[in-house]
Amino acid sequence: MFKNHGRVQATYVIVLIATTFISASLSAQNPRSPVAPRRELVESVIKEAYEKYKTETKGKNADYIPYLAQVDSKLFGIAIVTTDNQVLTLGDVKYSFSIQSISKVFTLALAMQELGAEKVFEKVGSEPTGRAFNSPIAVVDMPSHTGNPFVNAGAIATTSLISGNDATEKWNKILSYYGRVAGEKLTLIDDVYKSEAATNTGNKALSMLLAKYDRIYADPFESVDIYTKQCSVGVNAEQLARMGATLANNGINPATGEQVIKPENIPHILSTMAVAGLYDGSGGWAWHVGLPAKSGVGGGIVAVAPGKGAIVVFAPPLDDAGNSVKAQEVIEFVTQKLHYNLYSPSSVGWK
Ligand code: GLN
Repeated sequence: MFKNHGRVQATYVIVLIATTFISASLSAQNPRSPVAPRRELVESVIKEAYEKYKTETKGKNADYIPYLAQVDSKLFGIAIVTTDNQVLTLGDVKYSFSIQSISKVFTLALAMQELGAEKVFEKVGSEPTGRAFNSPIAVVDMPSHTGNPFVNAGAIATTSLISGNDATEKWNKILSYYGRVAGEKLTLIDDVYKSEAATNTGNKALSMLLAKYDRIYADPFESVDIYTKQCSVGVNAEQLARMGATLANNGINPATGEQVIKPENIPHILSTMAVAGLYDGSGGWAWHVGLPAKSGVGGGIVAVAPGKGAIVVFAPPLDDAGNSVKAQEVIEFVTQKLHYNLYSPSSVGWK
C-alpha cells in the first residue's frame, strides 16, 4: 500500500518535472505567441501562391515618381516572419525597394511613442477619406482635414509631430526608429529621394492646405521634405516582414527582443491599417482578406496577422488606387489557406 503510494508519488513528480521542462522549452522557443504558424504548412502555402501568381501581369508601375517607372515590373518576392521569428522567403526578397507609404505606419508609431495615442488621434484622426491617397479635395472636405495618418496629408501632419531641434535631427530619429523596428539598420535610397523631391509639388500643396486649416505642426515644406525622405527608405521584403512581425508581436521585434512600439499603441495602429491601409481600396481589401495591411507605391504590401506574424509581398505593378495587384492576390490566397482572416472565427481555431 505504502509502496504503491510511493510509486504513484514518484510518477507524479516525474510527470510534473517533465511537464515543466517541456513547457519551459516550448516557451523558450516561442516565448511570446502561442499561435505562431507551423513552418511546413506556411512553406507549402507560399510555394503554391508563388507558382500560381508568378506570371500575373496586371497593373502598372507608379510613374508619377520617375524612379519607380524604371523598376523592373517582373520583380516578385514573398516573405513571412512569424512572432517566433521564423523566416520564410521566396523570390526577389533581397531586392531593396522604397518603402513609400508603408513608412507612414512607423512614423505613426513613433509619434505615438512621443506624444501618446490620444494626442496623435486629436491632431491627425483616423477616418477613411474614400478618396485617392494624395487627394486635396479630402483635405478640404474632411472635418478633420488630415483624415488619417495613411493618406499623404495626414502622414505629412504626422511627420510634422516628430520632435527635434532641426530637420536633420528629426529625420535621423525617424530613420533610426525604422531600423529598430526592422531589427537592422536601414538606409535612404538617394535616387528615389531625388526623383520624388524633384516632382512632389502635389505634396507641397497638401502641406499648404494643412497650414491653412492649422493642421500641420512644424514648417510645412520641411515636413514634406522629411516625409519624402521617409518614403525613400530602402527595405527588402524580409526586412519589411520583420517590421510587420514586430506589430504582430505586440511591439516587440521578434529578432532583437526589443520593445520598440508600446503595446497599448498596437491596436490603434492596426485598426488604422484596417480602415485606411489600402486607401480607397481598403473596403474591398477588408472584404476579401480581413487583415490590417499597408501598401506603398513602391509595390510592397505588408499584412499583419496579430499574434501570428506578417506577410509581405513585393511586386511593382499597381492598381488604380496605388496598391500592388500581385501582392493583393497573393496575400488573399495565403490568408485564406492559413485561416488568418481576423473576422473569421476560424482565425482563432473555431471549427
Ligand atoms: N511618397 C509617395 C507620395 O507621397 C507615397 C505614396 C504611396 O506610397 N501611396 O506620393
